[in-house]
Amino acid sequence: MATIIVLDENTVNMIAAGEVIERPANIVKELLENSIDAGAKKITLTVADGGRKLVSVTDDGCGISTEDMASVFRPHATSKISSTGDLQKISTMGFRGEALASIASVAAVSLVSKTADSLNANRIDIDCGKSGRVQPASGDTGTTIEVRDLFYKLPARKKFLKTANTEMTHIIEHFTRIALAHTELDMTLIHNGRQLHHLLSNQSMQQRITQLFSKTIAEDLIEVKNREKNISIRALLARPERARANSKFQYVFLNRRFIRDKFISHAIKQAYQGLIEPNKYPMAFLFIEMPLDAYDVNVHPTKIEVRFDNSNLIHSQVVGTLREKLLSLNLDVAAYMPQRPVSVNHTGQPADGGMQEARRQKIEGAMADFFKQHGPSQQRQRDFSFPSHSQAVPLRSQPADSQQSVQDNSTQPKFFLQLHNTYIVTQTNEGFMVIDQHALHERIIYEDMCRKVADGKLTSQRLLLPETLELTDAQLDAVKTNGELIEKLGIELEPFGPKTVAVQAFPTMLSKVGPADFLSDLLDMMTDKNLNLDAERLLHEILDMAACKAAIKAGQKLSETEMQQLLADKDTVDRASRCPHGRPTTINFSVADLEKQFKRT
Ligand code: ADP
Ligand code: MG
Repeated sequence: MATIIVLDENTVNMIAAGEVIERPANIVKELLENSIDAGAKKITLTVADGGRKLVSVTDDGCGISTEDMASVFRPHATSKISSTGDLQKISTMGFRGEALASIASVAAVSLVSKTADSLNANRIDIDCGKSGRVQPASGDTGTTIEVRDLFYKLPARKKFLKTANTEMTHIIEHFTRIALAHTELDMTLIHNGRQLHHLLSNQSMQQRITQLFSKTIAEDLIEVKNREKNISIRALLARPERARANSKFQYVFLNRRFIRDKFISHAIKQAYQGLIEPNKYPMAFLFIEMPLDAYDVNVHPTKIEVRFDNSNLIHSQVVGTLREKLLSLNLDVAAYMPQRPVSVNHTGQPADGGMQEARRQKIEGAMADFFKQHGPSQQRQRDFSFPSHSQAVPLRSQPADSQQSVQDNSTQPKFFLQLHNTYIVTQTNEGFMVIDQHALHERIIYEDMCRKVADGKLTSQRLLLPETLELTDAQLDAVKTNGELIEKLGIELEPFGPKTVAVQAFPTMLSKVGPADFLSDLLDMMTDKNLNLDAERLLHEILDMAACKAAIKAGQKLSETEMQQLLADKDTVDRASRCPHGRPTTINFSVADLEKQFKRT
């Protein structure tokens, strides 16, 4: 007896719905995309009970003709492609002809639509796959689709829906993505009778981001544009300190379609490398335009993933564009002032970072201690003498690239002091800044070493007493395979017994670091398979480690000359506002903020 049957259409649709319709937000996405494909200029999204009760979209697009009304809910019914050839260059948001059929199989749907040249609108109702008849109705040109009571005949699926709030968060996310990609549209979002957003047509991207996220986020964004090899990139980048614990705040659009792509995420991360902590994700809005036939969108039912013909090219172009811009900026961190209200957007996410809170408390604590010791009376403040210009001691060494001296550098701070043997505080034009001495010194040494290695090798000095180190087999192997790299670092080794080497020469810059210890760590790093780094990354990891070891430590008392040197070097190195691991080296406090805090304004 035959056991195989061909499933009926409605069952097929319900199975397909499982792929694309998991929750109300998926319906929102499909309906909004249909409105965009219909050339709408104005779209209103109305939702009740987080979309569990109602998702309705009204647009002023081209509408659906009387003849087509009955077929839009049929599977694989689409007006957007007609042959396999069209799949190579999809310019519409939809093309699979699946969404409406899927939605109509799992909810009660009504569609009212009118084309411009039709006298009246038409209406059709379809309840979990059971279709009514097309009937004349009243309505303006455009389309309204109402989707009610999602999964009401499918309790097993309905029970997976979350609270109205959670479902609403997802809906807002999809609304946000479309709104960012289509600033030309007038878009409204209403939930339970309350208007959450009304975005006017033709807003600037900054205006959109202000409305969808917050003013603070929008105001700080760094914009960069680039067009090369048929790929155009427009990026609005948040400053490094806004980096998040996950990549949710990375909005990447390819020809106005929101996508998630591991190559592009990696490229964004790489662009911020050294500017943010390694486990953080930068916040960024990226708009990429490229020829339609240079990638495939037909790899995932929700089209959130694409396959690039040349993912390396797009990767390198994103890294190049973003990184060049980021490195050209002064990315000093502004102090987070305590009483500034934290605005909350509709997703319930704090729009402004609370992330600097811990750091702020630490610094405030240090400042409070300082003033306990040295203030606040006038008399005691005067007793405390700040080292100043006039007392400047000649510099020990000149910063690598610069002929500037402390005296002729107008930006050189006049006053500075060390707090808790860890932070240096100094006056700036706008207020004052607090510097983490270790982090800054680490960056200075790191940049200096990078430059020297790029030019050839680190200068080294011969050790009067060579240090010996007994190696493990793996370390011995590393010595053999990394000879060139070791030489580049200015380390000279000589065999000193079967498994022992003697360090004959060692980099001058690391004079404070024990040669044998350093070598041991270095070889471990080279043999660490978990790191799995290419040569370039390995070199940078090594320089990073070296800089960390050689840098002034937290808790180390500094002389005036040393502090002055550090501050002078700060102005001459690249990326001075971050240590090589991406932590800030400097936090700026502005007088304006202080005045607000002291209620002077
Ligand atoms: P797809 O978008 O992949 O073509 P859908 O199931 O989403 O498939 O839609 C089926 C068809 O219904 C579309 O191709 C389009 O012709 C028509 N349609 C859907 N929504 C609208 C709308 N808002 N305005 C005009 N036509 C629409
Ligand atoms: Mg569609």
